[in-house]
Amino acid sequence: PLVLGIETSCDETGIGIVRGRTLLSNTIASSMDEHARFGGVVPEVAARAHLEALQPAVEAALAEAGVALADLDAVAVTSGPGLAGALMVGIGAAKALAVSLDRPLYAVNHLVGHIAADLLDEDAPPLEYPTVALLVSGGHTSLLLVRDLTSDVELLGETVDDAAGEAFDKVARLLGLPYPGGPEIDRAADGAAGPAGDATAIRFPRGLSRASDMAAHRYDFSFSGLKTAVARWVEQQDGDIPVADVAASFREAVVDVLITKALDACARFEVPRLLLGGGVVANRRLRDVATERAEAAGVTLRIPPLSLCTDNGAMIAGLAAELISSGRRPSTLAFGADSTLPVTEIQVAERS
Ligand code: ATP
Ligand code: MG
Ligand code: FE
Repeated sequence: PLVLGIETSCDETGIGIVRGRTLLSNTIASSMDEHARFGGVVPEVAARAHLEALQPAVEAALAEAGVALADLDAVAVTSGPGLAGALMVGIGAAKALAVSLDRPLYAVNHLVGHIAADLLDEDAPPLEYPTVALLVSGGHTSLLLVRDLTSDVELLGETVDDAAGEAFDKVARLLGLPYPGGPEIDRAADGAAGPAGDATAIRFPRGLSRASDMAAHRYDFSFSGLKTAVARWVEQQDGDIPVADVAASFREAVVDVLITKALDACARFEVPRLLLGGGVVANRRLRDVATERAEAAGVTLRIPPLSLCTDNGAMIAGLAAELISSGRRPSTLAFGADSTLPVTEIQVAERS
């Protein structure tokens, strides 16, 4: 099916068009620049930016895909989780499109969409089930056991405080680096302003990562203790802060916890497959450590192209196309924004 997907859960206005598992276009407009001076995404600013960006983004996506609105078989939209006002703009547009074109509408889960991005990776062999999936983004850090993307996603654990990306952003701010902090920390650690940082310089805590924690906490994550440890360490210095060393040591702690727990879950559930998703996957060190340790553990690692890891509409369209192929009915029009939609709800308001 030819599906247009709309994604507006945060600051990216993403419009994607797919035909089945084939990506035809992926247009993204970001309002990040407007939020940078506030040090984080401002919900009302994001919602207004979506309103302005949507129409041109839809037109650009159609042009790039070489299709017309009338060609579409279905419309898909993120119904949650995310910022309520931002979600509402996308949902309104998706309902309007579906009604005016008389096409089925699929309201889907943003987090499952991040996993579905993998389906659109044409260089990779088909996704096999079950797979463990680690979703690391600005708002979420979740470990999932995916038995079927369209019907069975189990939450093994998630962060009890800060998301991994959020921790990067907060530590960057502490080090005087601009927002968004993830890429800045990555660059600082790699020695953007001089020699590369020493990842073993400071031993920062790895929250909830002992074997007993993993058993007792269902694979939950905690990054706020790490953030506090970095803050305290920085405060205690008299002279200049060795930014590269702090960035590298902090990054190492985050990456170590994420990959240790993900591979532990692979072992425990006897699933030799791990899929990564979310914006933090842009982190070079995360990808390198995941690659090394997965290989050593005999686990097949999948990392979608980075353009599909950050928020985008193609992953939403791809998930809906998969739902359609597996015979799922469309959503009713009676759904709204659900800012805390759990990852286990893959599609909302399916017609009975
Ligand atoms: P969610 O999907 O949970 O709603 P989001 O959409 O805001 O959150 P993404 O756009 O997937 O999240 O990812 C953005 C986050 O990724 C930011 O916190 C940013 O700092 C982080 N990030 C981006 N590049 C890197 C990097 N190289 N290293 C670490 N973190 C990074
Ligand atoms: Mg974002
Ligand atoms: Fe996201």
